[in-house]
Amino acid sequence: CLWWWWASLADAGYMTYKDPNETAAVRVKDLLSRMSLEEKIGQMVQIDRTVANAEVMKSYFIGSVLSGGGSVPLPKASAEDWINMINEYQKGSLSTRLGIPMIYGIDAVHGHNNVYNATIFPHNIGLGAARDPELVWRIGAATAAEVRATGIPYVFAPCIAVCRDPRWGRCYESYSEDPKIVQEMTEIIPGLQGDIPANSRNGVPYVGGKNKVAACAKHFVGDGGTTKGVNEYNTVIDWHGLLSIHMPGYSDSVVKGVSTIMVSYSSWNGEKMHANHELVTGFLKDTLKFKGFVISDWEGIDRITTPPHSNYSYSVEAAIKAGIDMVMVPFKYAEFIDDLTQLVKNNIIPMDRIDDAVARILLVKFSMGLFENPLADFSLVNELGSQPHRDLAREAVRKSLVLLKNGENRTNGLLPLSKKAPKILVAGSHADNLGYQCGGWTINWQGFSGNNYTRGTTILGAITSTVDPSTDIVYRENPDGDFVKSNSFEYAIVVVGERPYAETLGDSMTLTMVDPGPNVIKNVCEAVKCVVVIISGRPIVIEPYLSSINALVAAWLPGTEGQGVTDVLFGDYGFSGKLPRTWFRTADQLPMNVGDSHYDPLFPLGFGFMTESVKDLVNRSTSAGVGEMPYMLSIIVSVIISLYFSASSGWLQKK
Ligand code: BGC
Repeated sequence: CLWWWWASLADAGYMTYKDPNETAAVRVKDLLSRMSLEEKIGQMVQIDRTVANAEVMKSYFIGSVLSGGGSVPLPKASAEDWINMINEYQKGSLSTRLGIPMIYGIDAVHGHNNVYNATIFPHNIGLGAARDPELVWRIGAATAAEVRATGIPYVFAPCIAVCRDPRWGRCYESYSEDPKIVQEMTEIIPGLQGDIPANSRNGVPYVGGKNKVAACAKHFVGDGGTTKGVNEYNTVIDWHGLLSIHMPGYSDSVVKGVSTIMVSYSSWNGEKMHANHELVTGFLKDTLKFKGFVISDWEGIDRITTPPHSNYSYSVEAAIKAGIDMVMVPFKYAEFIDDLTQLVKNNIIPMDRIDDAVARILLVKFSMGLFENPLADFSLVNELGSQPHRDLAREAVRKSLVLLKNGENRTNGLLPLSKKAPKILVAGSHADNLGYQCGGWTINWQGFSGNNYTRGTTILGAITSTVDPSTDIVYRENPDGDFVKSNSFEYAIVVVGERPYAETLGDSMTLTMVDPGPNVIKNVCEAVKCVVVIISGRPIVIEPYLSSINALVAAWLPGTEGQGVTDVLFGDYGFSGKLPRTWFRTADQLPMNVGDSHYDPLFPLGFGFMTESVKDLVNRSTSAGVGEMPYMLSIIVSVIISLYFSASSGWLQKK
């Protein structure tokens, strides 16, 4: 009878790995036992979208495709366009002998940032200022829904770098210089992937649902600690420093079930991370018990040698032996496949290592239900750029703003602004530029300039919809002093900062404001009371201009929802953000992190005045019997300097 049952299953083409009632582990084992070397090695390859098509997927058994920074953007493609494109590649994979689905990945690092009309959230530095793990969880969930709306199940996020030097061009991708804040922000992982059940916090990848995605913690490890903040360079630090500063985010990510981890281009004490067996296998897989897959960075294994790609077979061997499971964009994928095949056939790389890599990749694919639902449908397309997500982004912007100055004694400044002023000036290149507001990794790798690439509200647009219709708003990018003096502006809002950049192109040794920013501040703020809003991916030189500025706000790279900025400037909400990193005085102080003996910041880590909304303030004043105060006079800002600030920096005493 048993034999008959077994035979009938075999007749019906029953294969254990196709059975959704089996555990992922059982399915992985079964599938692996059926795979040829060629099929296994194919799973380990991730190719760029521009070289993918159904035929390539099928003939090379390719395991994954991506849209990366280096990929050609798809301007104004709709969610449906993305789904159709990705399904086309998927059909190639599904038509192979074993029908193993490929996994498509994308950099969704502040919302679904490559895609037209997506909600763009503040970059991580702003979320580090908001310091609200629950908010970050919701941002993860919204991002996952938008990414899935376009048929994509995998994101290369979050970046959990601990940026120790703002000269690094990726500092804005880091939540904080403080490892504890970065750890708290790993709450984005369950937001992206779904909350892992409490009893399975054992390093096993977890993705719970069709509107969730596999996440990728990056870049393992020490990417934010390179000398002088030079991108992809060398992090010189002892074992204790590595473990206490750069590693805690990874331990937390593993516990929270992160599906994948990306290796860093950088080196640790001179050794390329892409070839580091001790850390990738020894620590991450063996000690932290990470069970998902380790992915290389884009052409990361090529860069093991100097110059890159000079001894490819050696690089392939070093990377795979170090413990890399999937290779993101091997320079030439056919060459990678040939080299790896030879290395296995010549017993230089053991078959066990290949099996381990492929088992991890398959485990992620099974765990997230990719075998059951390999093709995307259109059921989630309305999630892209939806109003609830935009409202959430606006909330995040509000919470990310840090008030650095408000008048001379911190309470008597220009903020909050009056909505009823007869005439106001808005100035600066960043006031009406959605691209500048979003920063790098938005539509294009290096970001964009202007307002035409995606949808959103600029700060000028937000001011216009906030003030009374009778207010005369004059906008000048770079007004001269006489113009400002000759008009009777009640106040001015100056929006200046950095232009977008990404990765190495953002490395800066000077960290100055982009021209004519300083000139705009001078011309405007010396003539009329001004609030300066800084749009930047990191602290920049501001001390020389500080005395002329009445109020100063760090807005980081807020994304598409500029109304979050005006919500707080005009007092509908209070300021609550705190500096997620030290604000230096001059770039030659760097690196300078809290705890350093030479710590002498302009504003320390954790600094930021907290204020109440006008409504709360008025309510409180009224109930306390102070009576109805005129609007502008009711501007009493409660000043709370963070505990960190008063406890650790000694800055208050210095002032
Ligand atoms: C970056 C990664 C990114 C990858 C794909 C690399 O240059 O370092 O963070 O995920 O490109 O775009």
